[in-house]
Amino acid sequence: MKTYDLIVVGGGVSGLVAASHAAGLGRSVVLLEAENRVGGCIESWRPQADFWLELGAHTAYNSYGALLDALAARGRMAELLPREKAGYFFMEDGRAVSPLKRLGVLELLAHLPFGLFKAKARASVGAYYRALMGAGNYQRLLAPAFAAVLSQEAEAYPAAWLFRKKPRLKSAPRKYSFSGGLQGLMEALTEGAPFETRTGAAVSTIERDAEGFVLSVGGEQLRCRTLVLATPVDVAARLVQPLLPGLAAQMAQIAMLSIETLAVVVPREAVTLPVLAGLIGADDAYFSVVSRDPVPHPSLRGFTFHFKPGLLDRARKLAVVARVLQVAPEAFVAVQEKTNRLPALQVEHLDLVLEVDRVTHDQPIALVGNYLNGLSIGDCAERAVREAERLGGGV
Ligand SMILES: Cc1cc2nc3c(=O)[nH]c(=O)nc-3n(C[C@H](O)[C@H](O)[C@H](O)COP(=O)(O)OP(=O)(O)OC[C@H]3O[C@@H](n4cnc5c(N)ncnc54)[C@H](O)[C@@H]3O)c2cc1C
Repeated sequence: MKTYDLIVVGGGVSGLVAASHAAGLGRSVVLLEAENRVGGCIESWRPQADFWLELGAHTAYNSYGALLDALAARGRMAELLPREKAGYFFMEDGRAVSPLKRLGVLELLAHLPFGLFKAKARASVGAYYRALMGAGNYQRLLAPAFAAVLSQEAEAYPAAWLFRKKPRLKSAPRKYSFSGGLQGLMEALTEGAPFETRTGAAVSTIERDAEGFVLSVGGEQLRCRTLVLATPVDVAARLVQPLLPGLAAQMAQIAMLSIETLAVVVPREAVTLPVLAGLIGADDAYFSVVSRDPVPHPSLRGFTFHFKPGLLDRARKLAVVARVLQVAPEAFVAVQEKTNRLPALQVEHLDLVLEVDRVTHDQPIALVGNYLNGLSIGDCAERAVREAERLGGGV
C-alpha cells in the first residue's frame, strides 16, 4: 500500500490550496476528488470554446492572499482576468434600480453613531446590521443584498465572517476571474503541480492505523501519515465519525442548503438590460442573478440565476428568467442547471470552530472548508494554508 506524507480529501479551493502549500513544504501529497473535475463550488460552464459562465462562485479579490500565493507558485498570475466595473441592481417594475434607492438616509444617520460601537465578534448579521443601519434599511436593502452574496438568508450568519478587512495584493486586479473562468484558476493549481491529483476518487471510509490513516477509494486503499479533510461539512462529519465521534456529532448539526442554479446564454442584441454585475432578488424566487458582463464577450451575454430551493420546476424557472431578462425563451442559445450546496452557518457555529481546533491541534488531522472560517474563497484558502502549515511542521 502506498504511503503519502499527506492525503487531501476534496478538490475544492480548500483542498487545492492545502495540497499546494503542503507540497511546497516538500511533502509527498495526493489530492482525492470525488467528481471528474476539481473546483467544487467553483464551476465554470463552457458551452462554447470561447465562452464560459460561472455556475457557482464568480468573483475573487486581490485580498485572497493565500489563493494568489498558490497561483504564483504555479507561475500563472498573468492569466488573471480583471473584472470590469459594473453594479448590482434590484429589479423593480421591469427596470434595473440602484440599491441606493432603497437606503433611508435619515434612518441610517439615526443609527450609525450608536451602531458603530456594537461588537461584531459574536453578533449575527441580522442583529449587527439592524443596529448599524436601522431595521427598515436592513429589511429593504441589506437582507436581500446579503442573501444574494451568501445564496441563503443571512439573518443568523456570523457578522464577523461576512466582510473581513485583509491586506490587498496591489499587483493583482482588485476583482478578477481567470482564463476559462474561475475553474481555470482551480485547474491551474493542479497543472504541473508538485502533488498528485486524482479525480473520480471518492473516499468512502477512513481508519486509523499505527502509521496514520488508511483511506478506501473505490477498490483501493491508500495510507498517509497526515490527513486534510476538505469536503463539505456533511461528508466530513460522516468520514470523521469513527475517528472523532464527538466532533462528528457537532458537525452533523450544520444543515446543508441547496441552491437551484440555472444559467442561460443569450445573443448580446437580445437583451436590453444595462451592463450589470448582477441582480439582487427581493420578493422573487431567486437570491441573485450573476452576469458575465464584467468579463464581456463580443456577441454573447450570460446570466446565472441562483434560485431559492424547492419553489419552482425547470419550466417555471425558465419563465422567470425570460421575464427578468425581458427576452423570449427561444432566444436562449444554451441553458445549464446545477444544484449548488452550502452550509447554513449561524453564530453558534463559531463555537464549533473553537472545538475543532481544540480537538485537532495536536492530531495529524486537519479539517478545512467553508464551514470553519467563512464561505468566501479567500476565507477557505486562508484556513487551508494555516492547517497545512500546522501539519507540515509535524504534530
Ligand atoms: C452560488 C455560489 C456563489 C458563490 N460566489 C462566491 C464568490 O463570488 N466569491 C467567493 O469568494 N465565494 C463564493 N462562493 C463561496 C465559495 O465558492 C465556496 O464556499 C468555496 O468555493 C468552498 O470551497 P471548499 O473547497 O471549502 O468546498 P467545496 O467547493 O464544496 O469542495 C469540496 C469538494 O469535496 C469533494 N468531495 C465531497 N465528498 C468527497 C469524498 N467522499 N471524497 C473525495 N472528495 C469529495 C466535492 O466533490 C468538492 O469538490 C459562492 C458559493 C456558491 C455556492
